[in-house]
Amino acid sequence: MTESNRILVVGAGFSGAVIARELADSGRQVLVIDKRDHVAGNAYDFTNEIGIRIHKYGPHLFHTSNQKVVDWLSTFTEWTPYQHKVKALLGDGRLVTLPVNKETTEIVGKENVLDIFFRPYTKKMWGIELEQIDRDIINRVPIRDDMNELYFPNDTFQALPTNGYTRTVENILNHENIEFRASTAFDRSMEAGFDHIFNSMPIDEYFEYRFDRLPYRSIKFHTSNLPIPRVLPVATVNFTHSEPYTRVTEWKNLPGHGLCASHTTVTVEEPCSDIDNNFERYYPVKDSDGRNLQTLQKYKAIENPKMTFIGRCGLYAYLDMHQAINSALTVAARFIETAK
Ligand code: UDP
Repeated sequence: MTESNRILVVGAGFSGAVIARELADSGRQVLVIDKRDHVAGNAYDFTNEIGIRIHKYGPHLFHTSNQKVVDWLSTFTEWTPYQHKVKALLGDGRLVTLPVNKETTEIVGKENVLDIFFRPYTKKMWGIELEQIDRDIINRVPIRDDMNELYFPNDTFQALPTNGYTRTVENILNHENIEFRASTAFDRSMEAGFDHIFNSMPIDEYFEYRFDRLPYRSIKFHTSNLPIPRVLPVATVNFTHSEPYTRVTEWKNLPGHGLCASHTTVTVEEPCSDIDNNFERYYPVKDSDGRNLQTLQKYKAIENPKMTFIGRCGLYAYLDMHQAINSALTVAARFIETAK
């Protein structure tokens, strides 16, 4: 094997794993490293001490209308059908449907929708006012004028990997041309040994913050086992109050996530800056005046032909899983085509 076939992938989340697999399938030798002690990036899930599967970095619901992505992923997992439903908890204790639909609007009044459901949640989620965040982010949860109760009403495919995301990514990486090293941080001295590097580390961190730092939102997860068989009517309930917590997820309400008869596990999310959470970067901040995008462009303009940045942190983009996979497939195909 010539040196031009040696590939380093930094990060074993969906982006890195998909690229590693595609390049391994094309005959290249791929080393995948991750600074964490596990694969699957922020989609990592595991079974806790009472037999309930939880997603360590918050609820991950697979949904897409991209058949190519479904077909690709279906080689590595079976699927458990699941259509995500979310309720919002009003101040008087009532639970109403989210995204806001016709019924929810009738209950709270059209003129109150933004102030009840979006303003406080967005403030605590992003640390800035609703008007300061790009509309694209709010539009992930569009207001509806029908009675639909689904969180992702427009996606043709919605399901959970039957044996979890971690197992799925392990299956993707299970290839004779792929070596995976956990608990291994990227170091610039590694670059020399590889023809190309696909890097999902934060692009500003790689360039040692020579321009401004790209801000991220992070989440502190508060997880409890309660001696109650079930507490919520749906998997996730969003809060409308102005306390620092955004939502609670009851894991056993996701199919295949455990059947403990006596107890349930819930996780409450408390957003914060990545700086206040050990630089755990979950959400790139797309501000409405585009300042962070300008900083990103400066980093992207740096010549670096041996390296391709990928994933939420490499691209500084709010990618859902299906988008990360689609983007990774495109990047891998282009690389293989160019190398011919
Ligand atoms: N959002 C909100 N209220 C809600 C749910 C969402 O204001 O009850 C806004 C908020 O700004 C949030 C964005 O819509 O960050 C996207 O929400 P989504 O549920 O897609 O976020 P994710 O599941 O990716 O954390």
